[in-house]
Amino acid sequence: MVLKKLPANETKSLGIPRRILLEINKFKQRNLIIKYREKNICCERCLKAYALKKVGEFGLEDKVRGILNWKFRCHIGHGGYYLDEERLVKI
Ligand SMILES: [Zn+2]
Repeated sequence: MVLKKLPANETKSLGIPRRILLEINKFKQRNLIIKYREKNICCERCLKAYALKKVGEFGLEDKVRGILNWKFRCHIGHGGYYLDEERLVKI
C-alpha cells in the first residue's frame, strides 16, 4: 500500500479530510435544528448528501465516500434533493 503524503491542511480525522470536516461543520451551523449536549444537530440525510457532493467537487478519492457512508448510516437526502438553508438542492 502506498501512502501519499498529505499537505498540512489535509490532516484527517477518521480518514475524513479536514476540508470536508470544515464543510460539515459549516453546514451544521447554518442548518442547525437544535443544540444537544454542545453538539449542533441538523438533518443527517441532508448533511450526508451535502458532504458526498463536496467529495465530488473536491475530487477526493472514493475511499472518502465509503467512510462518509459508514459514518452517516442513513439515506442520502430526500428523493434526490437536500435542503441547505432555504434552498432545495438537487443531489
Ligand atoms: Zn434532510
